[in-house]
Amino acid sequence: MAIRTLVWGENVHENKNEIVRSIYPNGMHACIADALASDPNISVSTTTLQEPDHGITAERLANTDVLVWWGHVAHREVKDEVVELICNAVWSGMGIIFLHSAHFSKPFKRLMGAPCNLTWREAGERERLWVTSRNHPITKGLPDYFELEHEEMYGEPFGVPEPLETVFVSWFQGGEVFRSGLTYKRGAGNVFYFRPGHETYPTYHDKNVQTVLVNAVNWAHNPLARIADPNDAPNVPTPKAPEKIVERGPSLHKPGEAGYR
Ligand code: ZN
Repeated sequence: MAIRTLVWGENVHENKNEIVRSIYPNGMHACIADALASDPNISVSTTTLQEPDHGITAERLANTDVLVWWGHVAHREVKDEVVELICNAVWSGMGIIFLHSAHFSKPFKRLMGAPCNLTWREAGERERLWVTSRNHPITKGLPDYFELEHEEMYGEPFGVPEPLETVFVSWFQGGEVFRSGLTYKRGAGNVFYFRPGHETYPTYHDKNVQTVLVNAVNWAHNPLARIADPNDAPNVPTPKAPEKIVERGPSLHKPGEAGYR
């Protein structure tokens, strides 16, 4: 079965800024979705901030294998209840890919538990992305490095936890470097952060970037059944312990009692 992929676009710059609209006439999310649709193994749909509940319900997430997220100017408009649904879906096994300025999105910050801050400059610099994890599935079909002629600079230190793997490191014309492709596991869910994608440059039309997006969706997909309740914390009564034991010492809880939250 194809990987059911949902591309979430903030869809604000496209409607307010002529330059962004000229590069992405149908929205950035549509360009990203078109790139993913080139892989017959991916079935893609899109939704935007402006839809009711941003187009994200528990049912829709239950039928999504990988969620792709681009946001920037309207992070604060994303409802906290929706963020909670997304995080629970990730913990239960949904894959998620955060693009560019989504480093400050609510779901990314919640999943990272860190400031997720960085240095930045909008000067149309050349970005050179180096593959730092050889033969990682997300680098399939890529050269040792590739370049984007015009990008926004993001520089270290990037305020995120140490990743499982650093897949790409970027160098910028102005001299800064940045860990631009990072993998994480949160609960049962695979998480990938990918840096490029500033809205005033044609980054998502770039073939190498599109290759990364396709590879990342394939990598992030966890084919196992979702965990029904990733927050469940069951009390295992003494008689149900894998080995026979005798209770010792004082006890606060009654047998089988639910824990405090
Ligand atoms: Zn940007």
